Amino acid sequence: MRIAKIETAEVNIPLVTPFKTALRTVDSVHDILVRVTTDDGQEGFGEAPPTAVITGDTRGSIRCAIEEFIAPALIGMEIENLDGIMKKLHGAILKNTSAKAAVDMAIYDLFAKSCGKPLYQILGGSRKEIETDLTISVNGIEEMVADSLKAVEQGFTTLKIKVGKEGLKDVERIRAIRQAVGPEIRLRIDANQGWSAKDAVRIIRTMEDMGIEMDLVEQPVNAHDFAGMKLVTSQVYTPILADESVFSPEDAIRLIQERAADLINIKLMKTGGIYEALKICAIAESYGVECMIGCMLESKIAVSAAAHLAAGKGIITRADLDGPSLCREDPYTGGPVYAGNRIIMNDTWGMGITEVPAFAGR
Ligand code: MG
Repeated sequence: MRIAKIETAEVNIPLVTPFKTALRTVDSVHDILVRVTTDDGQEGFGEAPPTAVITGDTRGSIRCAIEEFIAPALIGMEIENLDGIMKKLHGAILKNTSAKAAVDMAIYDLFAKSCGKPLYQILGGSRKEIETDLTISVNGIEEMVADSLKAVEQGFTTLKIKVGKEGLKDVERIRAIRQAVGPEIRLRIDANQGWSAKDAVRIIRTMEDMGIEMDLVEQPVNAHDFAGMKLVTSQVYTPILADESVFSPEDAIRLIQERAADLINIKLMKTGGIYEALKICAIAESYGVECMIGCMLESKIAVSAAAHLAAGKGIITRADLDGPSLCREDPYTGGPVYAGNRIIMNDTWGMGITEVPAFAGR
């Protein structure tokens, strides 16, 4: 089973509502898709979103990295030689983590197929079903409360609230949402680097003093401000989750050793795929640090790769995999089932996605 062809295509799926964070506003999932075909006709699929403000990747750079650097390095390799492929993939070009992630997941898709197993079983087989939160975009308070109530009606029991634009006014947002949804719903707060360390301590402590229970606060300060992350982590009771601060296994080691966060948010687009994400899982597990798995604005292909990883590894105790729920349509056939807050794995080999219209007829 040798790699014969690596192709790219584009997908553009409108969102149900615009996605707004402290960093950006987006209306659609406009991503690059990858198909890896083997000499015996098997297909593996991958996807990469152009998250320029976080990973530095654009549609143009993703295509170029795959077509001109990664594909030539991998063509002809045996799928069974997963380790060798991954060394070549990561050696073909520096950074470009989203492009690498798209190819990495297509290779894992094929590797699991070659083993005759669903991918999550190859990755550890921890459980068959995971629960995801739903993101509430940063907007006016009334709109955020209405969006939160709608999410709860749809069956979501954990909400991820985007804040970080307006300092202490964010407290009003969270308080209003907490009052509206009641005490049983878990709230995750994502500042997307929007606060200074001192502001973060003040804001989080204010919420704690008001008795507002939070599951975690995500990336309160700038990605590179490890000292700020450490200050916030040491000064508040609420668990602090590192997102933009941790891309690589090396980042994870540093963050854990400096005690700069309580939890780590793994995203395939930051690590460059499953192979490197597994290293972060191993590091985190060794230190007893729980992980969350997250996604960018991704449709079902990339999110399903992340879901397989989360179902595989027990150290991933939280999932923020709401990409498919934010999309207005699902163009693909097969894969895990997304039912409200539940993502249910099935026994199809590989990632389980069987048809991707962007490649049909090619
Ligand atoms: Mg985040």
